[in-house]
Parts: sequence; C-alpha cells; structure tokens
Amino acid sequence: MHYYSTNNRGHHATLKEAVTRGQAPDKGLYMPERIPVLADTFYSNLKGLPFEEVAFKVAWALFRDDMELRDLKAIIDDSLNFPIPLVEVEEDIYSLELFHGPTLAFKDVGARFMARLLGHFLKNEDKEVTVLVATSGDTGSAVAHGFLNVPGIRVVILYPSGKVSPLQEKQLTTLGQNITALEVDGTFDDCQALVKLAFSDEQLNKRVNLTSANSINIARLIPQSFYYHYAWSQLPTGKDDKVVVCVPSGNFGNISAGLIAKRMGLPIHRFVAATNANDVVPQYLQTGAYLPRPSIATCSNAMDVGNPSNFARMMDLYGNSHDALANDLVGYAISDTDTKAAIKEIQQRTGYLTDPHGAVGYLALKHYLQLDKATGIFLETAHPAKFIEVVEEATSNKVEVPEALASLQHKPKLAHKIAADLEALKAFL
Ligand SMILES: *Cc1c(COP(=O)(O)O)cnc(C)c1O
Repeated sequence: MHYYSTNNRGHHATLKEAVTRGQAPDKGLYMPERIPVLADTFYSNLKGLPFEEVAFKVAWALFRDDMELRDLKAIIDDSLNFPIPLVEVEEDIYSLELFHGPTLAFKDVGARFMARLLGHFLKNEDKEVTVLVATSGDTGSAVAHGFLNVPGIRVVILYPSGKVSPLQEKQLTTLGQNITALEVDGTFDDCQALVKLAFSDEQLNKRVNLTSANSINIARLIPQSFYYHYAWSQLPTGKDDKVVVCVPSGNFGNISAGLIAKRMGLPIHRFVAATNANDVVPQYLQTGAYLPRPSIATCSNAMDVGNPSNFARMMDLYGNSHDALANDLVGYAISDTDTKAAIKEIQQRTGYLTDPHGAVGYLALKHYLQLDKATGIFLETAHPAKFIEVVEEATSNKVEVPEALASLQHKPKLAHKIAADLEALKAFL
C-alpha cells in the first residue's frame, strides 16, 4: 500500500520511504492511501485475544502488501510485549493503562514499533543509520529505549542542559550501548534548531546516514491504533455496543490513531479530545475557526502544545470538513485546578490513582457522559510516578515509584556536553 502526503494526494511513497523519511518532502504528513474496512466478524473474533494477536490482525490488514507475515509478527512480538490492561474505575468508566512499557508512558508503543520497523527496512543496507532526535523530555526517552540494541542503528539524543527533570535526564542518559545523549548548552528550541540544521547540511549528510524519529512518523502513529481495538475487545459483553473513548491530547497523534481505528470499522460511537488550557482543537470543534497560538505551561505538560502537528491528519481524514470531524469528535478543555482536584477526588472515591494527563481525560469524559449515556474509556497515558510532584501535591500522599524508575537513581549519567552549535554537533557525529 502507498502513503500520500497531506499536502498533495498525488505524492506517493512506499511504507519504507514514508518510515525512513518521517515527513513528506513537501512538509506534509504521510497517510495510508486506503484504510482497510474490517468486517463485523473480524471484531467479534477479537474478543478475549491477547494484545499481540489483536495488534497483529490489525497490522496485517494494513501492512500485508509491504512485508512478510513472519517479519511483521516478529516486529510485533518484540515491540508490543507489555500489558495494556483495561481497568474498571467506576460503573461504566474504564481506564486503558498505556504506561506499562519501559519508560512508563504510551509513547513506548509507537517508539518501539517504529524502531523495529525501521530496523527491518534497513537490515540489508550495510551503512549504519543515525537517528537524530531533539527532546524536551518524554519523547527522547521513549525513542532511546525503543531503539536500544536495534542492530545497524545508532541514536543521538539532544536535550537542553538543566531543562529536563532529573528523572527524565536519568531515563535519557543511562542507557549506553547504541544510545548517546548530548547535553546541549541551550534550550529545547536550540536543540530542535540544531537537528534541523544537521538534516540540511549537505556535507554531513554525505558522510552520515541521518534519519529522524519524530512523532509525526507514520510508523509511530499506526501502532497506536492497535490498542483501541484491544481496549474494545476487553469490554464485557453488554458494555461494548455504545462506547466513547476519551484521549488526553497534545499533538493529537494518539487520537488520530483512534480515528483511524474507527474508520477501519471499530465500533466506537464517538471520541472525546481532552486538553489542558492549550485548547485550540476544542475551540476549533466549537467554532470552526482554527487559531494556533503559543503554548502555555500546565501541570499536564506533555500536552502543552499550541499548534498540534497532527491537526492536518485529522482534517485530511475527514475531507477537511469541520462538520464531519465534529460529528465524531467532541472536545473539552480542563484547568489545572480541576485536574489536581480530580486526582484527589478520584483516588478518595474509587481508590484509583491517575496522573495529571489521565485526570484530564477522566474529567473530559465525565463532561461528555453527562450529556449522553455510554460506556466510557479514558486513556491513562503515563504512570502517576512520572509526574510525582503534581500527584503527591494533589493527594497529600506518597506515590510508590516502580522499580524501573527507582533503579535509575543509582545508574551513572553518560552524557557528552556540547555547545548549541552545528560545528560541535558535526564534530561529534
Ligand atoms: C505525548 C503525551 C500526550 C499527548 O499525546 P499526543 O499524541 O501528542 O496528543 C499525553 N499524555 C502523555 C503522558 C504524553 O507523553
């Protein structure tokens, strides 16, 4: 199957080209040219299957022309090998826990799958490939862990010195092996600018085979559609005929993957986009005017995005029709005050501990369910311990830190300090 650019439906790329390029040459985002529609029996047969099998069935429908069955199976078994349980929080409200991967956030799903897919496409090329990423925290660690020990690939992460949390820094800098962390004397914007400069430097690109692993890569998006299928397949009979899924959203990649799953035939009645104060999409859904603006810092900081990069994908999926999109998608914005109060209230009433992103999702879902009765699922996108300061302040209780995070405290930091300067980066590469 081919992939086209959201800027030009006439531009076509193979899956390999789309994955190795990341973004189309015209700066558009890649979309599958044909989203397969699966039969009702396909869905009834998903019930009770483990995640890897659900993922494989959906993936095979999308990728069957592009690779051998056993290769796809190996990629899935190797990358999607952690639990994604659907947990009942209260009557008719479920949490899909996406935080059981190595970096404790949902980005592990996309990053791990993409790493192995890229490894698959590059395995017969004798040149080593360097994946270059700039990070403000979470993306870099998911990508780094995703690519750890993938043969033929070296990962170089640029992060701003002193501007990521101590825990995030440990996640970025303690891996070693084929992962190198560069601690840049500058801001996140400097890191991003350096990566852009490196990609456009002819001399460097002759010498080093550079590729990007940023969040708009189609190989990070598509695996996220698998767990929507799996969430639905875990619902008890009788609870699965009118289902609303609420997604805490920043760049809107996660929810775009959900909308693709719905287009494939997954019986989801409607999606709810939950945002913090960075609410350009809920505003758009209400008014029809898309007005991107600089982001505002909030306590659910992985969603502090003022101009979501996947907006173009959602519009493309709905033929650029506001009404068509607004028919499937409702948006709510949640304040920090309400988010923190909800973390405490949900825990006291139900015993379930949410992180700030999950709490935003829970509240937006509640708003929706006041107007329309349905089974609700919200995505719990990170482990509460990743946002320990906010959660402990909200609940006045200590948060138990999982072993995977706690053990990092004792590992040595391995980072090279560099100036925010292209020559310094080139010298390193
Ligand atoms: C990245 C992230 C989000 C936002 O996901 P998008 O796909 O960018 O909308 C939400 N929660 C957490 C914890 C994240 O890391």
